[in-house]
Amino acid sequence: NKSPLVVANWKLNGGTDLICASVSKFLRHNFKVNIGIAPPYVYLGDMANFLKNSSIMIGSQNISKFESGAFTGETSGQMLKEVGCNFCLIGHSERRQVFLENNASCQTKIARALEANLMPIICIGENEQQYELGLTKHILYKQLHESLQGQDLTGKELCIAYEPIWAIGSGKAASPESVQSIHAYIYEEICTIFDKETADKIRIIYGGSVNKKNAAELLAMPNIDGLLVGGASLDPEHFSEICELA
Ligand code: 13P
Repeated sequence: NKSPLVVANWKLNGGTDLICASVSKFLRHNFKVNIGIAPPYVYLGDMANFLKNSSIMIGSQNISKFESGAFTGETSGQMLKEVGCNFCLIGHSERRQVFLENNASCQTKIARALEANLMPIICIGENEQQYELGLTKHILYKQLHESLQGQDLTGKELCIAYEPIWAIGSGKAASPESVQSIHAYIYEEICTIFDKETADKIRIIYGGSVNKKNAAELLAMPNIDGLLVGGASLDPEHFSEICELA
């Protein structure tokens, strides 16, 4: 089976202090689980250097859909790879809501990440209203098919993060049973988009108010292959406790 992956998404938080605290914590500890950290762009190179002798992966929170040229403010997949990134988050709900990203832009960004040999972690999930109207699967179906159709995964890694928007930062994580059933659905869909052999290599991780109290129960579910942690990842002690549970 897939070994679990626990990823920290720092969002627009953290600075030198958090980096020092996290790096010293992670260099002292030998974690069994796969760990990824996604700090803000400007810290990626330093973090990758500090952690280069560890198994911890570094990733960005976004990637440009362009490769190079007159695109002020953008950062390409090649650049991210060059400074030592292993993965990038794509289509986080905050990027979709605040920066107007959509399934089409995610599709391009996934292709750019794969070309640069970065593992895309594509974030999907329904909002509260869609959840209440019973539209979750419909939304996920569109997000998956519109962003993954046609991607060439030969020899590449991909990860899917299911993050129900109503669970993000709300302190109300989805129940392990409900996440399990959604992940089983996502697995079925990626079997049809790719094939079973490919789908079996794609981790499906959960994010939304994950903490050290609910992590173990979530990870015990057969189709939950890891966690994407926001708020709780800003405390290195808390985050490492979550990593120890995996
Ligand atoms: P919280 O863990 O703060 O709910 O954030 C989840 C998230 O958005 C991770 O990408």
